[in-house]
Amino acid sequence: MSDEPSRSILPSNLSASDTSISICTPTAEIDESCGGHFPFKTSSGPCAHCRTIHAESDPLKKELKSAWRQCKSCGVAWSRLSDDICGTCKQTVNESRGLIDEAVSESRLQRSQAVHARLKKPAPATSNPLVNVSVQPSIPLTTDSLNNIRTGGGPPGS
Ligand SMILES: [Zn+2]
Ligand SMILES: [Zn+2]
Repeated sequence: MSDEPSRSILPSNLSASDTSISICTPTAEIDESCGGHFPFKTSSGPCAHCRTIHAESDPLKKELKSAWRQCKSCGVAWSRLSDDICGTCKQTVNESRGLIDEAVSESRLQRSQAVHARLKKPAPATSNPLVNVSVQPSIPLTTDSLNNIRTGGGPPGS
């Protein structure tokens, strides 16, 4: 029986060693490293570019490969990479950005719907002063009642 918490259950991208993974560091096997920081780098040790250079035994090719342009996000170097970021990282960024856009537009939609609901709400009936004027006069408009008012009460003709 062991009470020691298992650290391996954490995905690598959530572990505390995430920062050291994203930095290109030499290992016992690969003594070459550029020390660069690559946020999308997924394994510890040297970056993909340094590994590629290290794996090359031909000094001439080694020099050639070290001149390759490198993705600033994951550290992978490509011979004809035309951008600071490789296609894989670009896609990842676009996907996460797309999710954010979706969430933003959704909340924006909800907000505009709420505004519309508020605008569509009918104005309260009491806001129009004319509505409050009683259509019915306070006295019945009959000859008798009018005569009553005129004569000061009492049945007419008495
Ligand atoms: Zn490196
Ligand atoms: Zn990349």
